[in-house]
Amino acid sequence: MTLARCVVAVDGPSGSGKSTVSRRLAQALDARYLDTGAMYRAATWAVLQAGVDLGDHEGITKVVLDAEIAVGIDPAGPLVEVNGTDVATAIRGPEVTAAVSAVSAVPAVRQILVTKQREMIADAERIVVEGRDIGTVVSPEADLKVYLTASVTERARRRSTETEADHHSTAEDLARRDHLDSTRATDPLRQAPDALVVDSTGMDIDEVVGKLKELLTSR
Ligand code: C5P
Repeated sequence: MTLARCVVAVDGPSGSGKSTVSRRLAQALDARYLDTGAMYRAATWAVLQAGVDLGDHEGITKVVLDAEIAVGIDPAGPLVEVNGTDVATAIRGPEVTAAVSAVSAVPAVRQILVTKQREMIADAERIVVEGRDIGTVVSPEADLKVYLTASVTERARRRSTETEADHHSTAEDLARRDHLDSTRATDPLRQAPDALVVDSTGMDIDEVVGKLKELLTSR
């Protein structure tokens, strides 16, 4: 399936399957893939490395402004670097996961990263972009906007198998991040009015990717 110029926005809460589905869809469309969550995670890694307090918004902003955050757009193997250091694994660790919602709630951080994201999207011919605010803020003109969700139980089950962490604490972490991400003042997680909701509870990856392809063809 090859389309002309096209932007697909995939938003939704943690554990909804956004990353796997978006990567797979990008591969099927011969498109690029942008994981905006990786950018917020890389920024958070830089803040933690610098030892800046999570309440110090000015300090956080300075670190993020000065950091060279490079996130690749190859769906086969996305690269994530901060000042030349490969942080692709470190950004998935518990320290970054615990701090990322606080860092991404800082308005200046969002401004810096949203500007970068828009540039990357403009440079790509076809791209699948996943995050929390893609359809609402970063790319409101996207050709297809999907709000991918799943029940908290299913999302926690998927995450705990991924990380082998205890199911209960994973569910608690998801609920905490859902709350922080959807109640922050700037660009909270919310469904764009024109987004198509896909509830992936009980669906496997192939089914969800198939559903998105179907939506894209019928748009
Ligand atoms: O998608 P992922 O779980 O990697 O995102 C990590 C965090 O980055 C989210 O919990 C959220 O705080 C933040 N984020 C965001 N806006 C985006 C993508 C991610 O605020 N577009």
